[in-house]
Amino acid sequence: MKYRSTRGSPKLLSFSEAVLVGLAEDGGLFIPENIPNLPENWSKAWSNLTYKSLALEIFSLYIPREEISREDLKNLIDKSYSTFTSNDITPLKKIRKNLYILELFYGPTFAFKDVALQFLGNLFEYLLEKKNKENKEKEKITVLGATSGDTGSAAIYGLRGKKDISVFILHPRGKVSPVQEAQMTTVLDKNVHNLAVEGTFDDCQDIVKNLFADRSFNEKHHLGAINSINWARILAQIVYYFYSYFQILSSLNITIESKEICLQYCVPTGNFGDILAGYYAKKMGLPINKLVVSTNSNDILDRFFKNGRYERVKGETGAIVIETLSPAMDIAISSNFERLLWYLVYENIGKKEEERNEEEKGKEASNTIREWMQDVKVSKSLIVEKSILDISLCDFISESISDQETLDTISKYYSPENENQISYVLDPHTAVGVAAADKQNISPNTYQICLATAHPAKFSQAVEKALENFKEFKFENILPKEFIGLLERERKVVFVERAEPPLVKQVIENELNNE
Ligand SMILES: *Cc1c(COP(=O)(O)O)cnc(C)c1O
Repeated sequence: MKYRSTRGSPKLLSFSEAVLVGLAEDGGLFIPENIPNLPENWSKAWSNLTYKSLALEIFSLYIPREEISREDLKNLIDKSYSTFTSNDITPLKKIRKNLYILELFYGPTFAFKDVALQFLGNLFEYLLEKKNKENKEKEKITVLGATSGDTGSAAIYGLRGKKDISVFILHPRGKVSPVQEAQMTTVLDKNVHNLAVEGTFDDCQDIVKNLFADRSFNEKHHLGAINSINWARILAQIVYYFYSYFQILSSLNITIESKEICLQYCVPTGNFGDILAGYYAKKMGLPINKLVVSTNSNDILDRFFKNGRYERVKGETGAIVIETLSPAMDIAISSNFERLLWYLVYENIGKKEEERNEEEKGKEASNTIREWMQDVKVSKSLIVEKSILDISLCDFISESISDQETLDTISKYYSPENENQISYVLDPHTAVGVAAADKQNISPNTYQICLATAHPAKFSQAVEKALENFKEFKFENILPKEFIGLLERERKVVFVERAEPPLVKQVIENELNNE
């Protein structure tokens, strides 16, 4: 299995190369040469596997053994998920008839990004160690990223203490939530560096892009990226779609693959990473009926699935990004969407010209994507033909959820008096997905699995606001013990007084010298 760029660069990369470089040199994203088929007897053979064993089977379809032996891969997986506090890694909870919550927040930072970044951190270390053994000359990498909260802390916890890797995470000073800030800055490992930049998240992002584009700086420090376009992150997220499928079959007491149930996955979405993993699961052959794209008011994706236009528009206030109660999904452009577009174009060519071979279709799809991404860059807009939109609607349904609906959903599912459901505290991101689930008109044999992307204690402001009328609700009762005293713990952070690339470069070099 090799990896190709969505924009058609003729160079195919190995899995390891694709992971280490992150983004293709033509600016495209890496996708596997083809989506692997499931083994003939998968639904039986995999049905009783643990999360870790299932991950091994799925990863093995995408990572050739010659690159990472099965034993090494197993060790990497075991190590990555040993930090999770649930034996199931991603437990599935039934809330009411036909509605389940897939809890993805048992990793060290209490959000779903840990599922991918715990693995990516170990994978980076492993690949680097291997490379260094082969090359004699020791290479170190400097992972650099900007965060508005969740990605940064998950990356820091994924990379802390890793050999020959230094990590620098820029966050806008005073503009991330107190818990998120504390989660990042209380990690005291020598290789972890938090930079609190005087500026906005966009300033931080721009500085990171600037440093990546700075040839000499990049070559000197071997910059590595951990953002959500890294293929290994998508791969890691495919596993819980399969795992939850087996969990729901067992909860419903269905032992074999059954045509009688219809499955919908409702996924809160920002950069289209989490839900893209569901798309891969579906294309591999997991019987998912529909993936429900659930956005907040930053609805570029929802608008695409409604009218085939992928375009940045200004909100009522004139801002491109609207601040919502689900900040991890406040985006203007969805960075993984390019991958889906590639598959849609590819399928569309196949429909029109059945006799074309795979390679030609792939090339043509890439040509189209290259042009489209240029359009998006220039005019901030892309309009696709109806046949392409129709193809997407075979797999996706979409909804956009307002802040008010988010709050209403949190309070509706908390409601302890409602005997048709268990009382459950949703985090605001998860609530966006659940609100979208509630909008679907479903048949009695349809089961909805909503992905819970964060623990509610991480986003206390929204939860407390939603539940202020419930006198018996006490925030302390849902607070994980790891959060107690977190805000008072010792911190390590470097203040950067101006959002300027040269200044950040200087700070990074200073810090590296003192490491
Ligand atoms: C990152 C994040 C999301 C969005 O995930 P994407 O893969 O970017 O679509 C949703 N919820 C939470 C809590 C997150 O941290």
